[in-house]
Amino acid sequence: MKVGLIDVDPHNYPNLPLMKLSAWHKAQGDHVEWYDITTGHCDIVYMSKVFSFSPDYEYCIDADKIIKGGSGYAIKFVDGKEFYDKSADVDLPDEVEHIYPDYSLYPEMTKDTAYGFLTRGCPRGCDFCHVAVKEGQCSVKVADLSEFWRGQKNIVLCDPNILACPQWKELLQQLIDSKAYIDINQGLDIRLMTEEKAQMISRLKVKAVHFAWDRYEDKDIILPKFQMFKDISKWGYRKLSVYVLTNFNTTFEQDLERVYTLRDMGYDPYIMVYDKAHTTGRDNVRRLQRWVNNRIIFRTVNTFEDYTG
Ligand code: SF4
Repeated sequence: MKVGLIDVDPHNYPNLPLMKLSAWHKAQGDHVEWYDITTGHCDIVYMSKVFSFSPDYEYCIDADKIIKGGSGYAIKFVDGKEFYDKSADVDLPDEVEHIYPDYSLYPEMTKDTAYGFLTRGCPRGCDFCHVAVKEGQCSVKVADLSEFWRGQKNIVLCDPNILACPQWKELLQQLIDSKAYIDINQGLDIRLMTEEKAQMISRLKVKAVHFAWDRYEDKDIILPKFQMFKDISKWGYRKLSVYVLTNFNTTFEQDLERVYTLRDMGYDPYIMVYDKAHTTGRDNVRRLQRWVNNRIIFRTVNTFEDYTG
């Protein structure tokens, strides 16, 4: 069988479903290659798109069968609001989902780096996030590290909420034992932090960890947790990044308060702007973003008022 792959997103990130599909087809003895207009006829072509804003593949595809999947096809807009249409996405069959990915598809990006999920799903169901609809509203263990890691020096973990998984301890221990550098790219849920979790996370080899303070009203729950994690890890702000969601349901005063509070506690805030397309560069949230997310300016200009003159 001749199999074509199209990574629709023009980004520098390896597409995990395509790497798994490639591995599975190669294991069946099929010929797999990236599809473009010179490829010729294929028995099957897989198209994967992660981001809704990526333009679709615009050329004709010569194939008996075309399968499209990924959040980029499932996220729809109705009345200016995003929603995730699960019927427009495709779940990989178990034997594909759990195969060791074909990292050779992205030799540069996966150089000494493994990518994967140990858990899927998240119990939170935040209004601005599609994880609960896409993966389920609880965090479930789906793999051991050995499923996608074979000694690479770096591991990029894509789990939405590993700390909510009942097997968090066993999974963190696997990450510690790997002695690899761990990048938990979807962040850690600070609201679920305990002293035991903080002690284990402190033993991970990380360049940085990411938390989020999205809902202003979580203030009383999460500030003591931030303090506890800081005391246990003893990490400096360069290793402690916190995403701060703005332009969703907070006031600008609440945005500023979160930024100042996090900085005073020794964390590094990072501004995320919801629905950025409907803001302009002159809006306060966009100016806040430019100030806070430029570490050099943020650490030298003390207040937003000073920054905006
Ligand atoms: S906690 Fe994070 S992963 Fe879970 S629903 Fe909220 S934003 Fe999504």
